[in-house]
Amino acid sequence: TQQLVWPMAQFGQVINMYQRAAASSERIFGLMDERGRIERDANAEDLEITDGRVEYESVSFSYDETDGSVSQETQRANRIIDDVSFEVDGGDTVALVGPTGAGKSTVLKLLLRLYDVDEGSIRIDDRDVREASLSSLRRSMGYVGQDSFLFYGTVEENITYGTFEASREEIIEAAKAAEAHEFIRNLPDGYDTMVGERGVKLSGGQRQRVAIARAVLKDPDVLVLDEATSDVDTETEMLIQRSIDHLTADRTTFAIAHRLSTIKDADLILVLEDGRIVERGTHRELLESGGLYSHLWGVQAGEIDELPQEFIERAQR
Ligand code: ATP
Repeated sequence: TQQLVWPMAQFGQVINMYQRAAASSERIFGLMDERGRIERDANAEDLEITDGRVEYESVSFSYDETDGSVSQETQRANRIIDDVSFEVDGGDTVALVGPTGAGKSTVLKLLLRLYDVDEGSIRIDDRDVREASLSSLRRSMGYVGQDSFLFYGTVEENITYGTFEASREEIIEAAKAAEAHEFIRNLPDGYDTMVGERGVKLSGGQRQRVAIARAVLKDPDVLVLDEATSDVDTETEMLIQRSIDHLTADRTTFAIAHRLSTIKDADLILVLEDGRIVERGTHRELLESGGLYSHLWGVQAGEIDELPQEFIERAQR
């Protein structure tokens, strides 16, 4: 029976690894447990990113399926993203800020093509993302998210996920750049320690650094950062910030930020409210203009106690 069981076990393992990879490739972008909804184009060609310039042109989107039963006005009223246009040069960082539910994550889901835009277009280096093969699009993007997903496997497997043929040296380099090498070295089996469900439990800050190492190794053209709100101590936060600074340098980066202090150096800050861009500019420009951003900044910096009533009312509408 040995001989019979053995290949079966092998087969089982292959299936398991496949399922694991399939599950994590969907969740690796973390933005979603969602299945998404897109039209696949059989003629799609691989995306070739040269500059990494990204353009949103008059993008509108709603989560409702449009089967023609709702009027155009209703559809317009249900828009989650409403006429969003902006441009980011290759290598620059654009930050998205705004109240909860404003549509920040949705803007990025459209870039990753979990959903297709209803109107307008998103182009990377002048190429509409709908014309690019999904695999090449996802390959060229890295994601470091709020609650970074680790699958059951070794630390090394978690770092190399999505990158084939990385040597142990390259993996260690990536971990060092992510300020993760030290803590990994101190795990029971170092890089061979099993983590994820049933494995050694890592803290939020550690999981995040593994995710950063994964992104460093993947070396994507476009990076999507969804800032962690998890509680980490100041020192860990500093380490994470430093590793993120490494990662975003010279790479087109989209950052969703909750603490404005982390994005004040962004090349462009977009303030979203109710699916629309209500303010845009650099940190300095936005402070000078005295709108929502400057007040959010005032609250976070402890300069004012709370948002003026007009902004609270606007956010509640
Ligand atoms: P937060 O800061 O809380 O993460 P956000 O600005 O990222 O918020 P989104 O997550 O983009 O906002 O959500 C925008 C709106 O779309 C919200 O009203 C939300 O309830 C809705 N929404 C998000 N995902 C879905 C979905 N899969 N199906 C239907 N509605 C959704």
